[in-house]
Amino acid sequence: MAMNSELLKRYGGAVPRYTSYPTAPHFHEGVSAATYRDWLAALPTEEPVSLYLHVPFCERMCWYCGCHTKVVNRYDPIHDYAKALAHEADVVADAVAERLRVSHLHFGGGSPTTLTGDDFSVIMTRLRERFDFTDGAELAVEIDPRTMTDDMAQTLAQCGINRISFGIQDFNQRVQEAINRVQSFDDTRDVLEILRRHGIDAVNLDLMYGLPHQSVGDAERTVDLAVKLNPDRFSVFGYAHVPWMKTHQKMIDEAALPGAAERWDQSEAVANRLISHGYKRVGLDHFARADDPMAKHLESGELKRNFQGYTTDQAQALIGMGASAIGSLPQGYVQNAPSIRAWRRAIEDDCFAVERGLELSSTDRLRRDIIERLMCDLQVDLAPFETRDGAPDDNFASERARLVRMVDDGIVHLSGEHIQVTEEGRAFIRSVCAVFDTYLQTGKGRHSSAV
Ligand code: SF4
Repeated sequence: MAMNSELLKRYGGAVPRYTSYPTAPHFHEGVSAATYRDWLAALPTEEPVSLYLHVPFCERMCWYCGCHTKVVNRYDPIHDYAKALAHEADVVADAVAERLRVSHLHFGGGSPTTLTGDDFSVIMTRLRERFDFTDGAELAVEIDPRTMTDDMAQTLAQCGINRISFGIQDFNQRVQEAINRVQSFDDTRDVLEILRRHGIDAVNLDLMYGLPHQSVGDAERTVDLAVKLNPDRFSVFGYAHVPWMKTHQKMIDEAALPGAAERWDQSEAVANRLISHGYKRVGLDHFARADDPMAKHLESGELKRNFQGYTTDQAQALIGMGASAIGSLPQGYVQNAPSIRAWRRAIEDDCFAVERGLELSSTDRLRRDIIERLMCDLQVDLAPFETRDGAPDDNFASERARLVRMVDDGIVHLSGEHIQVTEEGRAFIRSVCAVFDTYLQTGKGRHSSAV
């Protein structure tokens, strides 16, 4: 699909990625550690929950990084962090009414594999002491392939880890040098062989477009090489240049960044190439093998979206642990203090480190569900929402009026109560969701461009 510069100008602007609704910039200090304690105590225990553990350390900084992480040159702070993370599992388990079952666990970061095998095992042992993992639970870890060892792979396997994800971004060495992340195809292949030998065979890989010196040819060649590694899923992200928020991004030469048209061509080339290799396109930026559970959830309309992006996880509660970690409970969202020191101090005092959050109103829930269906399915039927608590009096008339221009532009079909985002509109899905976002007008937060 050729780029339509008018559409790009109109809908390619700064909009949230909608990994939650309302989005994190709208969290506020009215939700505190005390609120979180009440919410946890009221958590229904019959359904399994998900856990997210954040490890905000990396061996080296990649210049494109948009995560909450830091590089430390001694291991002590990481060890202390691991101890506190294990203890946060105690603080959570003590606050809930009954022992919780866990169906999904995700270690993210940063690079969770900066932890030593011993520290990683201590955390996993504590989690198993305090929670019951369901049969077939998905236990996922983001790894750094550049530092992965056979010993660590063995530890992960012994701890029951069954899914790993990591970034490739682009295999062109010039691009890799410009982003300070040099990682050859051969090394990447060897790491995957080691992990698979230890029985960890569910694999997600991340690719990026819009990187310095990157071309369409680089992006296509990277896809061709990456599919040889036979991952189940790919996530494809456009590099978001926000040096005012992430100061290390100042190391990226802005003059070497591709422009909007080139970014568009790269993203289309990556998508087309992945599809030609048999991957199914999922939502905005994921691709899954046709036999992968994510593709099946897409077909059955059960795909969900959480802070990690698209997920098959059906749990109603996601408990976040670690500095800056965000949790999603039936009552609303909570976020831990981003400062490692503040987070650790609270946890070591047997307290929660929640600094902000948001209690969901019925209007928020309704709009969250509409946005989630749009992000996942590219379509939504408004009819069942019009009778739900929190629906606007005008039955979404103002939203529909705002969609009319998108219909004229060919990115949305409207028929009765049914909204369908067209294939041409897929890249602008965030802008379609933004029509239902009543917080956006308040102007909090600065977002990256949609494409
Ligand atoms: S390894 Fe990941 S989290 Fe760490 S600096 Fe690189 S991109 Fe960021």
